[in-house]
Amino acid sequence: MNRLKKPMITVETIKAMEDMSFFIHALIFDDLLIVAQRETNCFVLKSKEGLIVIDAIWPAKKAFEAIVHAIKEVGWNPDTIKKLVLTHGHVDHTGCGRWFVDQYHVETYLSQVDDIFWKEHPTKPDRPETWKDYSISHYLKDGHSITLGDKTIYVYATPGHTPGCMSYIFPVKENGEKHMAALWGGVTPPWEKTAVKQYLKSLDYFMAGAIEKNVDVALSNHTAMDNGLERIQYSQKRLAYMPNIYILGSEGFKKYCEVFRTMSLDKL
Ligand SMILES: [Zn+2]
Repeated sequence: MNRLKKPMITVETIKAMEDMSFFIHALIFDDLLIVAQRETNCFVLKSKEGLIVIDAIWPAKKAFEAIVHAIKEVGWNPDTIKKLVLTHGHVDHTGCGRWFVDQYHVETYLSQVDDIFWKEHPTKPDRPETWKDYSISHYLKDGHSITLGDKTIYVYATPGHTPGCMSYIFPVKENGEKHMAALWGGVTPPWEKTAVKQYLKSLDYFMAGAIEKNVDVALSNHTAMDNGLERIQYSQKRLAYMPNIYILGSEGFKKYCEVFRTMSLDKL
């Protein structure tokens, strides 16, 4: 069968990132919740000391409410949200963070490079409502880790998509059994050739880190990359004897990452 080697990303895809009329969520591991609108999604990781939100969809109160609703719906307590960890300084990831800061007084994490990038190069320069609107409490560097209770997120500097883009590896559990999940922070390759080369270097670096950590789970923060909406729908209705669709195994993870290389080749 002739399958596409990369997703179709169009002007409509970009527009749909602002559609706050549709949200969906699923508990995809014992301790990992995914919340999505049509094109972008975030994760909530549960530790013994509280919750960590990873990325924050879009700067809209509706996105914030959808994430909080999903947390409640799976039986977790939003009052225990302690941290907001961002992959990079684009508006579809910094998202609704300011409501988490205002309401739950979360500690926020991003690289310093992307904090400056977020402020000085807003994704939508002509629209002040999308500009940087909250501050970062901790600047991340390559090799850092973020710990809350029994959970540690390993931090990898993966510049390319943005100059200070970060990617993450962290443990999750499926019926009590440990797996390692990887989230590649900046999905699409940049436009500029030198930056694409950097992006590919970062991809090799992150994949080496993932292999070392025995990653067998691939996560994405854009639904176009991984049939995200369909994976969430499947997870909502998955029966006990059916497989967890996020667990790809280490070979499957490597194969999945090839899409980032494929997308880059067009731009070199
Ligand atoms: Zn981005």
